[in-house]
Formats: sequence, structure tokens, C-alpha cells
Amino acid sequence: MVTGGAGFVGSHLCERLLQDGYRVTCLDNFLTGTPDNLAHLLDDPAFSCLRTDLTEYVHVPGDVDVILHFASPASPIDYLRLPIQTLKVGAIGTWHTLGLAKEKDARFLLASTSEVYGDPQVHPQPESYWGHVNPVGPRGVYDEAKRYAEALTTAYRSSEGVDTAIVRIFNTYGPRMRPDDGRAIPTFIRQALAGEPLTVAGDGSQTRSVCYVDDTVTGILGLAFSDHPGPVNIGNPDERSVLRIAEDVIAATGSRSTIEFVDRPVDDPGVRRPDTTLAEQVLSWKPQVDWQEGLSTTVDWFRTLADSEPWQGPPRQ
Ligand code: NAD
Repeated sequence: MVTGGAGFVGSHLCERLLQDGYRVTCLDNFLTGTPDNLAHLLDDPAFSCLRTDLTEYVHVPGDVDVILHFASPASPIDYLRLPIQTLKVGAIGTWHTLGLAKEKDARFLLASTSEVYGDPQVHPQPESYWGHVNPVGPRGVYDEAKRYAEALTTAYRSSEGVDTAIVRIFNTYGPRMRPDDGRAIPTFIRQALAGEPLTVAGDGSQTRSVCYVDDTVTGILGLAFSDHPGPVNIGNPDERSVLRIAEDVIAATGSRSTIEFVDRPVDDPGVRRPDTTLAEQVLSWKPQVDWQEGLSTTVDWFRTLADSEPWQGPPRQ
């Protein structure tokens, strides 16, 4: 079972699990994801999708072996627009889904995030680092929802005997990101393909380490099918500045766009790089797709969107 399966990462998880021969049920309320992401899977008899808001009630008939809990707004544009829904799905949605894991005697994997490290004072970030998060800053709604979800998952493991795992995912990119989701890579690609200036926050010297979605999915499933409780970082340690990412996007698209520097968002992390030693040791996992290759595949996908009318995400409130 994949919650949030209609989203960017969740849809890739559903697809890979079906390819690997599993039966997959997706639960999603289409708040920030879309059934379009699953359209190519709907004819597969091993796949089903139930429209469910996890903050209300979760019921799934039959046996469930593994639950991958990915439901949550995840891009800053979404969680800043949907702060209460983000906190509710991280808290109540996670609570309901852990209850289902207990009822079904299923292994439960929580999709946590590198955002639990906040604006980190330790670099790169190992799993043992407790983070540097501003709970009352605008990003607190997401960071603290995930930190709470980690605590709840741990409590269900220790006090209820549920077999749980926590994966801390670092920035992931690839096909099916929304062009307007506000994250740097889709924004830069959309701007470059439209010939508009690429808007780089601050002076662009802040760093990100980005992992191609196929690698992220391999790491997540490696943890899901192990017996390790985590937390385990999954991300690509290949770190580069945001300015460099923008320049690479211009080169990969062959665009004539220029770069425009804009204000940095509040509490925007200065650096971000996973320490992936644990994933290498316990999952034998390392990212395989290099940046130029992943970027080129992603640009190709965005080009195919350019002629259609892509879904623009939830209506602004
Ligand atoms: P996404 O917005 O594309 O997908 C999230 C999905 O959850 C959407 O389909 C949405 O409709 C669904 N959802 C939200 N609230 C729900 C609710 N109450 N009930 C049922 N479904 C609900 O985001 P994504 O980028 O695919 O991220 C998926 C997960 O991975 C999130 O939990 C996120 O925190 C985590 N993650 C992603 C990244 C990344 O780089 N994309 C990095 C770290 C962690």
C-alpha cells in the first residue's frame, strides 16, 4: 500500500512495485497529486487506487504486507499554502496509517525528509544529527509535522510492536514533478524552456544535493524490504550550488535564458548534503544516475509537457 501514491515520488513507487510483481493499492486524496500520474497503471489488474483523505478515516479490505506512507504536501509552495493540511496529515494521517499497520500486522515505512535537519549546523548530515529547525518559522509546518511523524512512528514501534522504518529523503527530482511546484529544478526547467529568466534565490551560493527519482525509489524499497528501523538517509551526496544547478539547466535545455537573482525565502537552508554511509552499509545502496543524465531525462519529460496543459496543482486559497 502506498499513501500519497498519486504524487511525484509515490507514483514512481507504485510503478516500480508493479514492475517487480507486487499488488499495489494507492490511497490519495489528490490534494497535491493527480490521478494523471497513475493513468498508465490503471489498466493493471494488480493496481488499485482509493480516493481517501488519511486525516479522516483509513480502511483497506484484505491483507496488507507493507505500507509506504508518502502522503503529505512536500514542496514549499504547497505546504505554505496548505499549512493545516500539512500538519494534519503528518500527525493525524500518520496516526491513522500506523493504526492500519498495526491492524494488518504490516511493515510501515514513513517518508521523512532532510527538512528534519532544518538549516543544519553539521555538514554533511548524518542520521545522528538532531537538526536545527525553527518551529514557528513558515517552514515549521512541514518540518515539525515530519519530526512529529518520526516520534509517533518510533512510539508505535516501541510501545505497540509495529514493524516500522523511517527514511529521510533528500531533494529528489525527475519526471512528474509539477512545473509550478516551486522547487528549484522544475522551476528552472520551466523558465528555461519558456525563455524566461531563471530566478535564483539570494546569490545562489546555497547548496543542494539532488537525487534522481529512480535512485531514490531503489533506496526506499531497499529499506522497506529490509528489517532496519532507520532512520536512514536516502539522497545523492553530489552537492552543488543553486546557481550551478541553474547554469546546468540552461545548458541542458539549450536555452538563451538569463539568470535573475531574487530574495531568499525565510529559513532557506544554506547547505544540504546527506551522509549516506548508513545506507551504503545496511542497504548496499548508492545512487547510480549522474546529474547530467538525470537532468537530461527530466528536461525531455518537461518538453513533452510544454505542448499539453499540465495540471497546475491545488487551487490557491
Ligand atoms: P507530492 O505532493 O507530489 O505527493 C504527495 C501526495 O500525498 C499527493 O498525491 C497528495 O495528493 C497526497 N496527500 C496529501 N495529503 C493527503 C491526505 N490527507 N490524504 C491522502 N493523500 C494525501 O509530493 P512528493 O514530492 O511526491 O513527496 C512525497 C513524500 O515524500 C512526502 O511525504 C514528502 O515529505 C516526502 N519527501 C519528498 C522529497 C522530494 O524531494 N520530493 C524529499 C523529502 C521527502
